[in-house]
Amino acid sequence: RSTTPTALVTGANKGIGYEIAAGLARRGFRVGVGARDTARRDDAVQKLRAEGLDVFGVPLDVTDDASVAAAAAQLEEQGGLDVLVNNAGITGGMPQEPSKVSAGQVLTVVDTNVVGVIRVTNAMLPLLRRATSPRIVNVSSSVGSLALQTAQAEPVGPISGAYSPTKTYLNALTVQYAKELADAGILVNAGCPGYVATDLNGHRGTRTPEQGAAVFLELATLPDDGPSGTFRDESGSLPW
Ligand code: NDP
Repeated sequence: RSTTPTALVTGANKGIGYEIAAGLARRGFRVGVGARDTARRDDAVQKLRAEGLDVFGVPLDVTDDASVAAAAAQLEEQGGLDVLVNNAGITGGMPQEPSKVSAGQVLTVVDTNVVGVIRVTNAMLPLLRRATSPRIVNVSSSVGSLALQTAQAEPVGPISGAYSPTKTYLNALTVQYAKELADAGILVNAGCPGYVATDLNGHRGTRTPEQGAAVFLELATLPDDGPSGTFRDESGSLPW
């Protein structure tokens, strides 16, 4: 295999994922742009290539076992995988109050934000296990932090029975994968991008997608003796 490390970013056709893909490519990775929609994926790949970046499209719907298996087979054929960034995510729309969410809405959000991460991670693990400096980065959120949401002085985050709890689950998964994969030398960490203006929140966020991507670029390029099983944002460690 070539010496250029390969990264895969899920949901990389827009928003924070697009900027993570761009940032990793600028740092010398060959980047797989994971996206479920052909036209949106091709557009993103074209835009990134126009910048001179080494990227390729990976058809990937994180809720579809067959799509995930095909993505793993594609990466295998193209030489392997060093860094996986689990970025794809949805809110499930409104209402979000626990008393108002529907079972179908919750199942859809869980399938994407939680089961999607497990599907993709488990499919990519055989490839990551063969990498020299393997990293798994989970795009989480401070709204998944029970500590921050129950802080007596200044509780953060909206009332949410669908989206926020999926990020709590993702944080828990980060810890469990980190424990399981410690012996394999795979560093698994979660980060929060801050409140970023993207389609996810109707562009109400106050930070740019590029600013949001920064913490994930850091987690994707940790040194071999770097931490695993942590949760942080750009300014440092976050409470679970
Ligand atoms: P966007 O809506 O801009 O991007 C979400 C991306 O996920 C899109 O590329 C979307 O693809 C993709 N996606 C959704 N479902 C699937 C699926 N089933 N399979 C593959 N891809 C899928 O949102 P953001 O960039 O804001 O969100 C990226 C991540 O950041 C999410 O995990 C989100 O929870 C997290 N986050 C965002 C914050 C913010 O303030 N924006 C704050 C904290 C965390 P498509 O175009 O096809 O829909």
